[in-house]
Amino acid sequence: MHAPKVGFVSLGCPKALVDSEQILTQLRAEGYTISPSYQDADLVVVNTCGFIDSAVAESLDAIGEALNENGKVIVTGCLGAKDGGNQIRDVHPSVLAVTGPHATQEVMAAVHEHLPKPHDPFIDLVPPQGVKLTPKHYAYLKISEGCNHRCSFCIIPSMRGDLDSRPIHEVLKEAENLVKAGVKELLVISQDTSAYGVDVKYKTGFHNGRPVKTRMTELVRELGDMGAWVRLHYVYPYPHVDEVIELMAAGKVLPYLDIPFQHASPTVLKAMKRPANAENVLKRLARWREVCPDIAIRSTFITGFPGETEADFQMLLDFLDEAQLDRVGCFTYSSVDGATANDLPNHVDPEVAEERKARFMEKQAAISAAKLQAKIGRKLTVLVDEIDEQGVVARSYADAPEIDGLVYIEETEGVRVGDFLEVEVTDADEYDLWAQRV
Ligand code: SF4
Repeated sequence: MHAPKVGFVSLGCPKALVDSEQILTQLRAEGYTISPSYQDADLVVVNTCGFIDSAVAESLDAIGEALNENGKVIVTGCLGAKDGGNQIRDVHPSVLAVTGPHATQEVMAAVHEHLPKPHDPFIDLVPPQGVKLTPKHYAYLKISEGCNHRCSFCIIPSMRGDLDSRPIHEVLKEAENLVKAGVKELLVISQDTSAYGVDVKYKTGFHNGRPVKTRMTELVRELGDMGAWVRLHYVYPYPHVDEVIELMAAGKVLPYLDIPFQHASPTVLKAMKRPANAENVLKRLARWREVCPDIAIRSTFITGFPGETEADFQMLLDFLDEAQLDRVGCFTYSSVDGATANDLPNHVDPEVAEERKARFMEKQAAISAAKLQAKIGRKLTVLVDEIDEQGVVARSYADAPEIDGLVYIEETEGVRVGDFLEVEVTDADEYDLWAQRV
């Protein structure tokens, strides 16, 4: 029997990627096959991103391409939530259906309507960990949707709603299935990982017959016992994060924290409506380093936020000097349709924002280079991502996939993707390390 084929285009951030994985898993579970080309597919699902203008344009283009090449298109994702889906329907009136993000059931209902479910349950061969878009040795683990903050540059709460934590037993079961299927690294993601469980008042759930609270520390402790690397993204420096640093010092979870600070000037942070304060952050960082000296801190920042003066920017540079962060990303501010920051006075000239970003990155490059130089001679465990003609491409505890640095090793003999290797660092530049096996 011909199994109906669905094409899939996945755009956007890791949170959207997880939505795609859930839809793909459901499609496979119901007997649909996934088609790698438009021509072969009976219908195409496009998961969109609506965060910034360039992502909107990319999403609209992708929908247009799918319509031209295939003709039957269902749209989901963040762009679908804008203006009740009209932003998409205005440009592409022939799409079959539009849903917002995190809407597996609505997408499946639209698929059923336009491409009926196959009757033969024989084809139900979905692996228990679901269908993953990441390489087999690492996987994103989404623990919640939405966000209770209201940062003025962000429209995620208006697109995805308030914090909605996934039940702890569901998250832990998924993690367990992933590890059983060979995943060596779990990347915990959400909009605010430290807020996990606040919405359900840290309700107690059950995992393997044991009570476990829906709370960040308990979640991390359980994940840390599963035998894989556990990496935490999008954490805010709240006091209870101290408990997690202790788990890092005890070797239960990678000593790595991704904390989006965004700025250091109190005026800018206030205008951004960020839940943080630079002075407290520096104190907290110092304390964390006392407890766990190896901790790698990653962060992101914005230059050119409305109202940012040269003095504010200087404060940000001074903060970088003091904070000595390991990994840093920087964006220039750009208006997002629907964000309250658009109405703030004193927008910064985009050229000035660019120039500040360049100065910011130059300072951080020197900090990063010095930090990596200090690693020469150290022994590290690395996880192999890729093997090519030049050697092994791997990552250490300090490197998240896609966004951080890499560790290069020449000898490839007997090495497979997904292996852990013990290496000694022999060289370093601003972002990457070179090492040899020990
Ligand atoms: S914390 Fe702020 S930037 Fe992050 S999702 Fe929530 S509102 Fe947006």
